[in-house]
Amino acid sequence: VAKAAGKGKYVVFEPVMGERIRDREYLKADLRAALQTMDDLFVFYQPIVDIRTRKVTAREALLRWYHPDRGWISPVEFIPVAEESGLIEPLGRFVLHRACADAAKWEDGARVAVNVSAAQFGNGMLTENVREALMETGLQPDRLEIEVTETALLSGEHDVIGDFGRLRKLGVRIALDDFGTGYSSLAHLRAYPFDKIKIDGTFVRDAVTRPDCAAVVKAVADLGRRLGVTTVAEGVETAEHLARVTEEGCSEIQGYLIRRPAPGKADATRVDEINRLLRQQREAA
Ligand code: C2E
Ligand code: MG
Ligand code: MG
Ligand code: MG
Repeated sequence: VAKAAGKGKYVVFEPVMGERIRDREYLKADLRAALQTMDDLFVFYQPIVDIRTRKVTAREALLRWYHPDRGWISPVEFIPVAEESGLIEPLGRFVLHRACADAAKWEDGARVAVNVSAAQFGNGMLTENVREALMETGLQPDRLEIEVTETALLSGEHDVIGDFGRLRKLGVRIALDDFGTGYSSLAHLRAYPFDKIKIDGTFVRDAVTRPDCAAVVKAVADLGRRLGVTTVAEGVETAEHLARVTEEGCSEIQGYLIRRPAPGKADATRVDEINRLLRQQREAA
């Protein structure tokens, strides 16, 4: 690791930091192995619901990894590892394919939303992978939605705009994720052709107690309505949250109040088995 800093330079680091780097290296190797079989990678789904009609308009695909020794590992932990190691490309391909295949079987015709990292943009692979996933699964392009965060938009090194154009040409929809976190800017909403704005859960939950957060939610909802863009309140956990975001004019909601992310039909039994095993291990410990 120290070598990477350049010839003749010594990097002094705390033991803790060394451990963390070693941890990441192990995680990287394990993720690479998991991608070989894909048996321990799962796609969970969480519904997004229209407040007025109460219909499920879409389901967000959320990656889950069952690690043989460490149990369930959150995407918050392993996505960054995948990004820095280049594994995000095969991982992204896996999610796209699985999500489109599952959605093609949904009887209610809801869309499927797939998260995409900054690292997946700009090398031509994303559009190719999307095209391939759609073709192989037969999913209608307008039933696929790509979710991108503002942080990804700002990573200047990736040609996000070019990819947006190519994705839209395929007929795929684009959503701005986690709006309100990071360097939110109204300029983004004008510069990029979004179909949906997802207001981050922290804003949504704070809107109940903080007038300034409620004002932000209302402003985004108003803007969405005028631009003809759907606004989703993320992280709705209670009836009170729902009442607030309805009041402020959001069109759709997502959150534990409606449903927690859960495996698709084909994976449900295996996930139940894993969870039973983990419970037994915990009780035995
Ligand atoms: P995200 O795209 O903003 O996804 C929403 C996150 O909020 C999910 O966390 C979801 O489980 C969680 N959530 C849903 N409802 C509630 C609620 O009512 N309260 C609270 N507190 N949380 C709620 P998750 O599944 O842990 O994913 C975290 C992040 O990891 C995602 O944030 C996304 O940025 C990233 N991620 C997940 N799957 C993928 C993937 O396939 N590819 C990429 N590139 N990133 C992914
Ligand atoms: Mg998302
Ligand atoms: Mg989000
Ligand atoms: Mg997020």
